[in-house]
Amino acid sequence: MIVLKLGGSVITDKESPMTPDMDSIRRLAEEVAESKTRDLIVVHGGGSFGHTVAKQYGIAEGLTSREKTIGFSKTRQAMVELNSLVINALLDISLPVVSVTPSSFVIIDEGRIAMFSFDVVRLLIDLEMIPVLYGDAVLDRERGFSILSGDQLASFLAAGLGASRLVFGVDVDGVCTSDPKKNPDADLIEVLPLDKLREMVNFGHALSTDVTGGMLGKVMETAIAIEAGVEVIVVNALRPGIVKKALRGEHVMGTVLVR
Ligand code: ADP
Repeated sequence: MIVLKLGGSVITDKESPMTPDMDSIRRLAEEVAESKTRDLIVVHGGGSFGHTVAKQYGIAEGLTSREKTIGFSKTRQAMVELNSLVINALLDISLPVVSVTPSSFVIIDEGRIAMFSFDVVRLLIDLEMIPVLYGDAVLDRERGFSILSGDQLASFLAAGLGASRLVFGVDVDGVCTSDPKKNPDADLIEVLPLDKLREMVNFGHALSTDVTGGMLGKVMETAIAIEAGVEVIVVNALRPGIVKKALRGEHVMGTVLVR
């Protein structure tokens, strides 16, 4: 089983609210089809759909005022809209995808998954269908509601279902020594052991580009999968062909996370 996480920065234009990158979405749908991956789960991020609305209403901080309930509704709806675009692109090329809405069956506690059932996803895979999930605004025991990131969700699924590989498609070549968009001297880290990653996070290299924590926050989420023996690789999904190869298990440029 393989879990493919498509970053919000890949499938949307993060600079413009509610703007999908349809060329990327269609190309990636084709790469998924061409990879002929069996037992695939797709998880996507929120990008300029979910994050924009979530930020506007401070959804990650929870239900701190009554007026925020409308923000929760709007964040969920923004994600439903983005998910429809992804689902339709995959359906257009006849992939048997099924949208699985996290906010309908996952409950978190202070942002961490607290109640989850693998059954629907597992049964869909048994029936040779492709479950598609996404980062979502979900109910939170402590905060009322909050954000469940696609990163946490993808890692949790990969670990819990014993996936062989977790492919993270982002808009840069992998985890670098610093943010490559800000620092032209940033070097790609090809192999990153968990200990080294923890050091980087502790040294505060983390750059929060969105409500769920940027690159280092993202890769820290994969710890649960790495510890469960899942092969985790971060690749540049904006470079045509890389996701297809990564799904097939071919060697590609990127960062492999290891124990
Ligand atoms: P997505 O929303 O696509 O899942 P994010 O935007 O959360 O991804 O994180 C990816 C971004 O993290 C990259 O676009 C990059 O600018 C930024 N970033 C910050 N620090 C690093 C780093 N050390 N290595 C690589 N990218 C980094």
